[in-house]
Amino acid sequence: MKRKVLIIDDLELVKSVLKRICEKLGLEAITAGSAEEGIALYQTASPQIVTMDITLPDMNGIEAVKKIKSLDPSARIIMITGADDRDKLAESLKAGACDYIVKPFDSERVVRSFLNQMKNKL
Ligand SMILES: [Mg+2]
Repeated sequence: MKRKVLIIDDLELVKSVLKRICEKLGLEAITAGSAEEGIALYQTASPQIVTMDITLPDMNGIEAVKKIKSLDPSARIIMITGADDRDKLAESLKAGACDYIVKPFDSERVVRSFLNQMKNKL
């Protein structure tokens, strides 16, 4: 079974770039454009990795991290956000995110993070 990455972001461009990175790594990508949709998909699809935007139309991504972690404390969530902000970084890690990548990102940085999370998940 292919390993899955759930991409939660409201921007199509970001979703398609992340999707392409997943495909190159042989990972299945599933996408959600809102926190609510993402949380629902997390429960039905059980992805190994989640990427989380902070600015989402319906909820702050950090709140969404807390919800997913409350459903599954072992969830591995990588923040991928335009917010290059120390407070948001600290808050995200406190909420249970395992990495924090600032947009615009270098695809190598994302690949490294995915591979790291995979290793930790095994
Ligand atoms: Mg956004």
